[in-house]
Amino acid sequence: MIEDLHWLGIRWEEGPDCGGPFGPYSQSERRDHYLRAWRQLRDRGFIYPCTCSRKDLAQAASAPNDADDEPIYPGRCRTRTDAKQFAQPTGMNWRFRVPDAEKVSFVDLHFGPQTFVAGRDFGDFVVWRRDDVPAYQLAVTVDDEAMQITEVVRGADLLKSTARQILLYQALGCKLPGFYHCDLMTDESGARLAKRHDALSIRHLRESGWTPEQVITAAVSSKLPGSAL
Ligand SMILES: [Zn+2]
Repeated sequence: MIEDLHWLGIRWEEGPDCGGPFGPYSQSERRDHYLRAWRQLRDRGFIYPCTCSRKDLAQAASAPNDADDEPIYPGRCRTRTDAKQFAQPTGMNWRFRVPDAEKVSFVDLHFGPQTFVAGRDFGDFVVWRRDDVPAYQLAVTVDDEAMQITEVVRGADLLKSTARQILLYQALGCKLPGFYHCDLMTDESGARLAKRHDALSIRHLRESGWTPEQVITAAVSSKLPGSAL
């Protein structure tokens, strides 16, 4: 991605390839930050250890109301009160206990007012994975706070994750950044681009002779390279 962005002519002042005042910029080097947040969440009673196997979850879970999203956690471990007995998160999933029926609202800088209901639109989500790495939701929240990010820009598929992350920002006592979610690029039939659309990856376009200007023009006009070819 870094190589593709450089090729497109996009420049930045800090990041994993060039360093900067808020480094390190690779999540694999930021474990101490995430562990500190994990301890805070544990001590404040926001998270619990979950020992459900994948099979348990598959059997108990209700079908997700949103095919793109993870199923709502059925709640078998949510009444556990032994979180503070763990000095390390290692060896099991750790879930955030969402406040059931509470509305989480924010104003997206592109899509406007958004509201999601905890426990209905999403359930108790994983903040630390059993393979001993912080989950996406925790890592990005901790990084944005530590790096003093004021505006988060990303795809519309993450709107609902913003609601989860707002609960984390609040639990950690952090100030919320602004959120701007972009429309997703789609193919001719309106389906979202995915790995199977590899022919439309930037690298592929580049290898087949596209210029950075052509790619950017196509992206800005939301007109697909496929249909423009
Ligand atoms: Zn469980």
